[in-house]
Amino acid sequence: MPIFVMRLILVFLLVTPTFFSAQNQNNYPQDYFGSPLEIPLILSGTFAELRANHFHSGMDIKTQQRVGLKVLAAADGFVSRIKVQHYGYGKALYITHPNGYTTVYAHLSEYSPEIEAYVKKHQYDKESYEIELFPHTQDLIVEKGSVVAYSGNSGGSGGPHLHFEIRNKEEHPINPMLFGIDIKDTTRPLISSIYVYPIGDSSTVNNANTRQKLRLTPQNNGDYITESIEAYGTIGFGVNTTDRQDLAGNRNGVYSIQAFLNGSQNLDIDFSKFSFDETIQLNRFIDYEHYKTKGERIQKLYNDNNGLSIFKSDVNNGYLTIEDSISTVYKIRVSDFKRNDAWITIPIKGVKPKNEFVKNETTTPYYIYANSATNLKEGRVSVDFASNTFYDDFHIDFKVKNDTLFLGEDTVPMKKYFSISYDISNYSEADRNKLYIARLVGYRKYPSYEGATRKGNILSCSTRGLGTFALARDETKPTITPVNFRKDQWLSNYRYLKIKIDDSGSGISNYRATVNDKWILTEYDYKTKTLTYDFNDGVSTNTKNNLKVIVTDNVGNSTTFESVFYRK
Ligand SMILES: [Zn+2]
Repeated sequence: MPIFVMRLILVFLLVTPTFFSAQNQNNYPQDYFGSPLEIPLILSGTFAELRANHFHSGMDIKTQQRVGLKVLAAADGFVSRIKVQHYGYGKALYITHPNGYTTVYAHLSEYSPEIEAYVKKHQYDKESYEIELFPHTQDLIVEKGSVVAYSGNSGGSGGPHLHFEIRNKEEHPINPMLFGIDIKDTTRPLISSIYVYPIGDSSTVNNANTRQKLRLTPQNNGDYITESIEAYGTIGFGVNTTDRQDLAGNRNGVYSIQAFLNGSQNLDIDFSKFSFDETIQLNRFIDYEHYKTKGERIQKLYNDNNGLSIFKSDVNNGYLTIEDSISTVYKIRVSDFKRNDAWITIPIKGVKPKNEFVKNETTTPYYIYANSATNLKEGRVSVDFASNTFYDDFHIDFKVKNDTLFLGEDTVPMKKYFSISYDISNYSEADRNKLYIARLVGYRKYPSYEGATRKGNILSCSTRGLGTFALARDETKPTITPVNFRKDQWLSNYRYLKIKIDDSGSGISNYRATVNDKWILTEYDYKTKTLTYDFNDGVSTNTKNNLKVIVTDNVGNSTTFESVFYRK
């Protein structure tokens, strides 16, 4: 073989893998961002995977069931934002880089000493654990690979991990894997179930006009085939799918879903980037009613006005129109980021049904026009929906019985919050101060606090999700219990002071702890209901120290706890 041919083959061999792996080719800088941890990256959550009321905005990196791992700046930059909150991201750090991107590190246990000192100074100045800071570009400069924080489990985190995000200048989160942050994955996505929806009045599937679950048969090669269906009119499909990566059993999100009708593509859902403004529209993307009643997330492969940028279809918004006597094949391709694919093949036979079906729609005296505002009022209760709170027009359940408001079930996706108001002038002034608006949750109708904003005799709250609501009364004061000390104890060798705080009714609204009348920073962890003070903050300098903790619940019931401890 002539040398130049061998060279050509060699070049081809070398080039080919790059060519194929460049399917994820993009305009994002590659290898600019390093890993934020020193351990191999194993994910418990992927970018844009489906969560409650939102798409996940970053990757969740497992931290070996531990807290306190070093968190590294992914690239040179400056700390542009620090946010500490009880819920949500917990302790979070934002680093803005010269290329315009911002990396986000969340659920941290603490910041690196320089940043920690900066945060604590502001917390002590403001006398608040929760804080949001926007340091100047020169205040906290960091280098790529330097330790900026320690991983943790703070805020709304269900176990130790690092939540890592990359955002562009518009603050839109982007899949970090598009920047070359690599996760080992040779495992195909898993298809758990597939559904078909007849859409509109005259459509049918298997001689029914309701959603049908299809029998799914896995093939030896990892693909799937369903039973053949008979359909007529406009239909759409839905799929429940997750992806497992090689080094962990977690069921994470997939990267893309495409669909093809007789070989031509009619849909492309691409989880590479979204905006926080659209994240609530996840509830429209999934079959929300099915999710709320069965706990399973079916991703709809047709765009019923979901308004999502991840959803791309040039052909009929993903809907299929099935004609009588015509057979078609619908194929769905589910891919993870590494382009491991799972294909689902659905044979469809066009069969016009012999009899007509009537959709049985529940009717009530109250109707929502999605694009106009609606006020519902009965007796002392008033409900206000802004325009475009809902996606569709529909009959809404609305009934008031004494102080209970029946507002259907939380099975209708909503884009906005709405308000509920009670006129409480029929209560005595003493009672009015103890009332709050609760959502009645679950079979046992447990009252869950929604709000208690009071203007004169009007008590109101803002909430999302239909359901049953009632006025509830909280006369129980919060409880305050020392965890690791008792009164008059010597605590010289203690690093932390721990106090448990709780409230059984409306929940804790605020807390304040002082030593010798000086405010002390106590970190509140809602999961363990614990306040923690670090003696290294150096507030308790006396030998004899007076500790005072005041906790107030959401209707204003307040408890004061006082104790004395000694240190030298
Ligand atoms: Zn996360």
